Amino acid sequence: MNTQVKTRTEILAMRESGKMLATILSDLIKSVEVGVSTKDIAILAARELKSLGAEAPFLGYQGFPDVICISLNDEIVHGIPRPDKVIREGDLVSLDFGVKWRGMITDSALTLIVGNPRDPQHRQLLSYTEASLQEGIAAVHDGVRTGDIAAAVERVLKKHDYGIIRDLVGHGVGHQLHEGPNIPNYGRANTGPWLKAGMTIAIEPMATLGTWKIKVDPDGWTVRSADGSMSAHFEHTVLITKEGAEVLTLRNQS
Ligand code: MG
Ligand code: MG
Repeated sequence: MNTQVKTRTEILAMRESGKMLATILSDLIKSVEVGVSTKDIAILAARELKSLGAEAPFLGYQGFPDVICISLNDEIVHGIPRPDKVIREGDLVSLDFGVKWRGMITDSALTLIVGNPRDPQHRQLLSYTEASLQEGIAAVHDGVRTGDIAAAVERVLKKHDYGIIRDLVGHGVGHQLHEGPNIPNYGRANTGPWLKAGMTIAIEPMATLGTWKIKVDPDGWTVRSADGSMSAHFEHTVLITKEGAEVLTLRNQS
């Protein structure tokens, strides 16, 4: 018995869930502009979920108060949308969103820069963190070990001397938002649990221009870099297949 391996019906539901997530995230990306509050974006996300008849797995998760996490600049993850948190030119905006459809959850995140970057390093941080996600996905195959994925992600981030977040990791996903096993963003190949076709995982590198150390705001949620350095977060939900990997939350590139 292994509930980490999804049935055909569950995989179909996750494909649909992932498509919905990708569609909504693409719309949210267009809404991120100077002068918009993070709560405005969350309201749009909630409205789109409702119109699709899907549920919000983030809402109420361990008490989280909204349908989406929106984290700015040195905030890495778990930012709570707020009407008084208004986006400015050059901000790094991370959108981390989940969709539950027919009981099955997908999870995906991205970071973008609004307008002109304040520093060319910001653009690089985003592109290399996204590249590390792609390398992690490329490492996935039937029989892969979590350490193989971790090492592939780490190789890219280490090359650029980024802070690789250790206290937060990728994870199995599907019936629950967070299922086993953990998928760290650092580690050694040929270590960790084996994964097989039919499992669904969220790979989610988080990196900073400074330290790997984090601190949590008094709100109990917002996680930021301990040294205030800028951070990036990219995530996809991936189905492990006999051939390799199917990215369930893939967005159409515009
Ligand atoms: Mg996520
Ligand atoms: Mg996740």
